[in-house]
Amino acid sequence: MCGIAALFGVESAERYVADLLFAIQHRGQESCGISVRTADSTILTYKQMGLVKQVFTPAVFEHFTGTVAIGHVRYPTAGSSDVLNSQPHEGEFLNGSKIAFCANGDIVNYAEWRSFLEGKGVTFTSSNDGELITKLIVYHCVADGMDIKEAIAAVQREIKGAFSALLLHGEYLYAFRDPHGFRPLVMGHLTWQGGGEIPSEGSCFASESCAFGIIGARFVREVMAGEILRLKRNRPVEIAGRNSLMPRYCIFELIYFSRPDTITFDETVYAVRKRIGAILARYDHDLPGGDDLVVMAVPDSSNFVALGYAAEKRVPFEMGLIRNHYVGRTFISPHQEKRDEGVKQKFNPLPRFFDRKRVVLVDDSIVRGTTLRKIVRMIRGAGAREIHVRIGSPRVTGPCFYGIDTPTRAELIANNKTIEETRDYLSADSLKHLSLDDLLHVVKYPDHFCTACFSGDYLYVPPSFVKQNAPRG
Ligand code: AMP
Repeated sequence: MCGIAALFGVESAERYVADLLFAIQHRGQESCGISVRTADSTILTYKQMGLVKQVFTPAVFEHFTGTVAIGHVRYPTAGSSDVLNSQPHEGEFLNGSKIAFCANGDIVNYAEWRSFLEGKGVTFTSSNDGELITKLIVYHCVADGMDIKEAIAAVQREIKGAFSALLLHGEYLYAFRDPHGFRPLVMGHLTWQGGGEIPSEGSCFASESCAFGIIGARFVREVMAGEILRLKRNRPVEIAGRNSLMPRYCIFELIYFSRPDTITFDETVYAVRKRIGAILARYDHDLPGGDDLVVMAVPDSSNFVALGYAAEKRVPFEMGLIRNHYVGRTFISPHQEKRDEGVKQKFNPLPRFFDRKRVVLVDDSIVRGTTLRKIVRMIRGAGAREIHVRIGSPRVTGPCFYGIDTPTRAELIANNKTIEETRDYLSADSLKHLSLDDLLHVVKYPDHFCTACFSGDYLYVPPSFVKQNAPRG
């Protein structure tokens, strides 16, 4: 998973983009980068491994400024984690002019298009799908005589998979999404309160609307699935194309990935999560209330689900686990050992809180099951009498090919264990998941969502993916 951001039309745009990226750092913590169009109309790119605040120091910005900038935070889903795979990517035309490009998503037919371009003599420096799209756009312009807008439209037809993208070229900024709009992208507006020569307003883009607050911008609207927006100085935002197909918004964005203060896919994330919690509570009419019953979340991603559960069941919501905020998303670390360490370092039970308590422990999802297993043990060790695990999503049975880092089928606990075996593995007293039907009830337009990781209903799969039998349990 990754995050992207842009600012158009305000001096020191790169600094605003760094702020926007900082606000969506939860979408990727491995590397970050910014491309800026400078006063002499060249494009400069700076990217490094590391977090936004570590990479983009005031010293970096000293010789790196402009009124248009795009940026990216990366969590690798495809390609190794090194700086060559980080974004934005630059592409160059024969006359020396450049484009800068970054995207959030994952391409299903990457291999096919890479060998096509290599067959035409195009060379690659990374295995990142952002580089592929950059080079395909340049190729269409150079070899097929297309302009950038036409090349983007061609890419929307040819590339299967997820891409919400930003592109800098000349005086223009382009913002566009794949025809199904798997990944989010929103537009905001910034009014600058300062005076002097600084322009008074600009447009901004980000993967999530929660980013806009940090720079004082307001949410305007989502970039629609398949839409191509083009921005030029002193002109209104232009819809330069719309190649929309049936939406397939990623439902996992609402369950886990997005921040609760984000509005995406026409949904308010925190409200969706509260509704999920309320449904889970209705599953538990046979779980008696009482002073010894507490509802708590695995912080932070399931906080609102637990709040919704507690409100519906009229049981107190408690914060029995304290989270160390200096540890990132444990799952986000690609290696299992790191993940194991992360769980121990990340949570600590409140002392004396769990004595003889019956605990409803709410989490957003179970993927491998390693995190929850450790947490259940921790709470049991802290004195809990019963632990009832409630999960705000169906069982994850398949990998994601559209930008979420879900492991292979073999690593997914839902493919190796039945519900009862999973409960036993977790050492929980009971285990319940939200059903797929109920998940689809909490959103306004159920047909507009991709649920492939739960349902196996994939729109596109890579050639290497072999359909397997339905999961057990
Ligand atoms: P586990 O079951 O130990 O593999 O981890 C599941 C936990 O990781 C869930 O409770 C989520 O909070 C979180 N999670 C789920 N999917 C992802 C993902 N793709 N990237 C980062 N964290 C995730």
